[in-house]
Amino acid sequence: MRTAFVGDLHLSADRPDITQAFLQFLKQGLDNVEALYIIGDLFEVWMGDDIAETYTADIANAINQVSQHIPVFFTQGNRDFMVGKAFCRNAGMTLLPDVYKTNLYDNSTVILHGDSLCTLDIGYQRFRRFRSLAIVRWIYSHLPKQTRLNIAAKIRQKSQTGNQQKHYEIMDVEPSAVQRLLAETGCDLMIHGHTHRPNIHLLAQGKKRVVVGDWYTQGSVLMVDKSGCELVQLPFVEN
Ligand code: MN
Repeated sequence: MRTAFVGDLHLSADRPDITQAFLQFLKQGLDNVEALYIIGDLFEVWMGDDIAETYTADIANAINQVSQHIPVFFTQGNRDFMVGKAFCRNAGMTLLPDVYKTNLYDNSTVILHGDSLCTLDIGYQRFRRFRSLAIVRWIYSHLPKQTRLNIAAKIRQKSQTGNQQKHYEIMDVEPSAVQRLLAETGCDLMIHGHTHRPNIHLLAQGKKRVVVGDWYTQGSVLMVDKSGCELVQLPFVEN
């Protein structure tokens, strides 16, 4: 048996090809899989569980089907940090804390989205602390729907232009932040996404940092079993 990890799908109404590939994966890509982890940025942007679109309902239903057979876990990403209990309930997913420790085939493993490791991006880390305040989340979730949709459009626009200006290295994880988290949690294996740089990094003392890939031009899945970790690409099928 094996455990599957996906992240950074950035599903949106504008990219039905990605949604299609993901639905296909949920139907046919989970042979011998005993648990599925979706580790953040499932959605390009998420403005609250009460703003449903047709494609989000389809996704919730499809994940829910999977959850009838195997447990499905969800970590919030920086784009969908407002995904809440209602959506997770509809999708049959268990909402995990930002940093989640578990045992995976005898490896002590820490699972996170990964944005918190990009500590050189000072502006973003400041925003991240702000948005995690309970009062900010409360006010945000009580804004009118149209206001939240407008905010979403602005955030998306701003982060797109912002990222172009930032130096490439700022967008990757900071090695000292990785070391700190591995030491704090006492884990040997770290699994995250966010950077869109799929890779298996071998670290000192036999530790590993595994990064899942994004779904912009192909699907990307990390399969973990007792023999190790494998990153698998799933080509998008032309319709
Ligand atoms: Mn991200």
